[in-house]
Amino acid sequence: MDVRVRYAPSPTGLQHIGGVRTALFNYFFARSLGGTFILRIEDTDRERYDPRALQDIYDTFGWLGIGWDEGPRTGGRFGPYFQSERTELYRQYAEKLVESGHGYYCFCTPQRLEKLRESQAARGEGQGYDRCCRNIPPEEARARKERGERCVVRLKIPLEGSTGFRDYLIGVIERANTDINPDPVLLKSDGFPTYHLANVVDDHFMEITHIMRAQEWIPSGPLHVLLYRAFGWEPPEYCHLPMVMGEDGQKLSKRHGSTSLIEFRAGGYVPEAIINYVSLLGWSYDDSRQIFSKADLERLFSLDKLNKAAAVFDYRKLEWFNGVYIRERSDEALKNDLLPFLRDAGLVGNPASSREEELLLGAAPIIRERLRFLTDAADMLGFVFREPQPYGAEELLPKKMGAEETAKILSAARSLMFPAEGKNFFDKTDEENEAGFRALADRLETKLGNVLGPLRVAVTGSRVSPPLFESIRLVGEEKTLARIDAAIKLLV
Ligand code: GLU
Repeated sequence: MDVRVRYAPSPTGLQHIGGVRTALFNYFFARSLGGTFILRIEDTDRERYDPRALQDIYDTFGWLGIGWDEGPRTGGRFGPYFQSERTELYRQYAEKLVESGHGYYCFCTPQRLEKLRESQAARGEGQGYDRCCRNIPPEEARARKERGERCVVRLKIPLEGSTGFRDYLIGVIERANTDINPDPVLLKSDGFPTYHLANVVDDHFMEITHIMRAQEWIPSGPLHVLLYRAFGWEPPEYCHLPMVMGEDGQKLSKRHGSTSLIEFRAGGYVPEAIINYVSLLGWSYDDSRQIFSKADLERLFSLDKLNKAAAVFDYRKLEWFNGVYIRERSDEALKNDLLPFLRDAGLVGNPASSREEELLLGAAPIIRERLRFLTDAADMLGFVFREPQPYGAEELLPKKMGAEETAKILSAARSLMFPAEGKNFFDKTDEENEAGFRALADRLETKLGNVLGPLRVAVTGSRVSPPLFESIRLVGEEKTLARIDAAIKLLV
């Protein structure tokens, strides 16, 4: 069988962890079986439609490096892939249901429906349509419609019996027909379909073989199966994915932290970490392996390794994956990843000059191990791209040491690093420099840390910095000298 799966977001909000997990599972499932992954935009809810949400879909999947075989921009045999461009098809198929007796026109006004809701609420009854128009003789209904009376098309839910379907993970899910929303609207009076009609018609005509989606859609399952039957079509296989929860056992939401991909991206996460971690939310390869590249998942993903239990989203775990993938970056790749963040922090120009890029390339290896997020870099590298933040003289002082003594140490360090004759700091190896500073500390009868500490503050403006020698090399001879001189001046 040619596997065809789809991710079908509604462009009403930002792409979040749950949606992306659904998309990734569909994508990897298709890839692992040589199938087709389709992106379909379910944009029939015109009131909630947000063009930024559509852009966010493109940006998110572009950033993750997940492409679709058929869909917007790429096209395909079964397009268009925007539901708003397929309304004629839905209208035709809603009509077919009316003709075959599975659907009917409903002329109830919004006012009547509102009154119905109120009286049901007042009597403490369940809410739902009272099927008032179900019994209008078809010819009469057609005549009223042709006269231009506003109407919707509703599906006739059987009044008895039950409807079920088999879910790959959960097994058989069966519901009494009397428990299904009485006669849901399929086509609205403005000619737009509701989610149920458009979703079923598209899955059929796009020849979708497997529906993998969030568990919150399970209640729609029996209704969709009734629709397939009414059309005389075969439903696809269903696989509803386990929920993604926060650590408190509640559905993952903003309360727990970032959930939209745009926030993770801005927060300095790398896409590989997101793909790897999100793919483990409800799926595992075996008990031990954790690290999976996109290429691994394209090969190894399979439905039989899905978990039934809800997955818990652990921010610390994702952070750990982020560190893993940052450490895997080459200098060049890390430089490119960091550029936008340094640009946003105002440390490099837009675009960055080649000198700035060169500096960042040099900085990449000295901060790589320390980055938890790409956003950490701006704080660590300020001193490389501009003068250190102003600091007070007391910052320079080692413990139990006064200004005079510290100034002496810095002057001695300056002479050691930039002697009148012979090799200076920049000509020597790190070992030679270290030996030199050690000998200096001995001569001054102090600890090595009391020499390097003030020097670090002088050069970087802070007591915490990337490794000192490498930092000095990045800052360069001229600026290092000037910064040491400025520090000494602060002390005397
Ligand atoms: N448009 C629906 C959503 O936004 C699609 C649900 C489905 O996959 O059937 O989640």
